[in-house]
Amino acid sequence: KNLLSIKDLKVNIEEKEILKGINLEIGEGEVHIIMGPNGGGKSTLAYALMGHPSYEIVQGEIKFKGEIINDLSADKRAKKGIFLSFQYPEEIPGVTVEEFLRTAKTSVTGETQKIIPFKKLLKEKMELLDMKEEYASRYLNLGFSGGEKKKNEILQMSVLEPSLAILDETDSGLDVDAIRVVAEGVNKLKNDKRSILVITHYNKLLNYLNPDYVHILLDGRIVETGGLEIAKEIDETGYENIKSQFSYDG
Ligand code: ADP
Ligand code: MG
Ligand code: MG
Repeated sequence: KNLLSIKDLKVNIEEKEILKGINLEIGEGEVHIIMGPNGGGKSTLAYALMGHPSYEIVQGEIKFKGEIINDLSADKRAKKGIFLSFQYPEEIPGVTVEEFLRTAKTSVTGETQKIIPFKKLLKEKMELLDMKEEYASRYLNLGFSGGEKKKNEILQMSVLEPSLAILDETDSGLDVDAIRVVAEGVNKLKNDKRSILVITHYNKLLNYLNPDYVHILLDGRIVETGGLEIAKEIDETGYENIKSQFSYDG
């Protein structure tokens, strides 16, 4: 059963066409990977799915749980079960991980999260991810390592319990520790109902993930879809072969 279905999606940023007709279907419980050269539009797709206001849908449709969500605000999409991992690059002293997550959960569910039951939920989720309890009372990102920041994102996903989790592993360096956190988190949190879309160019991460599908996004279009063998091919030959097969003006 399809969770997400994207048809001929064109998206502009400031009048410039970035996504040039994306077609993508994600079934319930599937793990999909999107790879592609820098500037191809991967992050644009993630933001457009989440409903970021700067990304203008000029054609096509995004259907989620059977409903066209093109015109829904980011807030409403989050309530429907779409999650985009967001990493606060800056430290937020004075706000603990627990407070941050409780506020986020309140916002997504529309129900105030009482302190005691939320503590219990958080404890369960942290145990599942092998996280030490004292982590919850640390200030957000203050002195966090790359791996700990990633843990925080995975914990967000686990607490918010989305139907579709989008993880955009941007071009900033992920150390081995962080790659392992993301991979283990994804593997623990995927289930029959929850689908996960991971955007990455890290082959190490790909190999741990055992995805159902790998897609190559190039110059605003998905030009190839298959299994892990695609990632392997890219690892060996880079994107040049694929680029030369498609008219590429980049
Ligand atoms: P990727 O994530 O695949 O590296 P992006 O989606 O970040 O690619 O970028 C796709 C294209 O959109 C690039 O040409 C980039 O310069 C452009 N772009 C991205 N964000 C903005 C923005 N906020 N304003 C203008 N152009 C942007
Ligand atoms: Mg980029
Ligand atoms: Mg990007």
